[in-house]
Amino acid sequence: MAVDATLPYDDQNIFARILRDEIPSRRVYEDDYALAFHDIAPWAPTHILVIPKGKYVSWDDFTARASDAEITGFVRAVGKVARDQGLVEPGYRLLANTGLDSHAEVPHLHVHILAGRPLGPMLV
Ligand code: IMP
Repeated sequence: MAVDATLPYDDQNIFARILRDEIPSRRVYEDDYALAFHDIAPWAPTHILVIPKGKYVSWDDFTARASDAEITGFVRAVGKVARDQGLVEPGYRLLANTGLDSHAEVPHLHVHILAGRPLGPMLV
């Protein structure tokens, strides 16, 4: 079910539980600002989710409330994961759904990294 990006942060959301290691994930990277793990239902041969360690519902919430250090750390982590996974060539796509129209499902900010095949034009 799509989530409303304006709702308060829910500590029981699935990515909060992954951060606390209460449920398993296939982690690929972690630092002070971010955790990256494989998506459980990949849309492409490589489908990694990168989430900030802080409690942010969405991209909108993150960019409004996070500190400069958190934003810089998180954005750098997304780039590092893509480089470390060897995705820079031939390329990858970043996606961050925010709000009801985007069909965001998990109310903890996550950036999708999609790669591993020609992804075609963005159709929606
Ligand atoms: P959204 O639609 O942008 O919110 O994307 C949520 C993503 O989280 C989807 O691609 C799901 O497959 C993924 N997902 C949901 N639960 C888990 C999990 O437990 N581990 C890893 N990925 C998950």
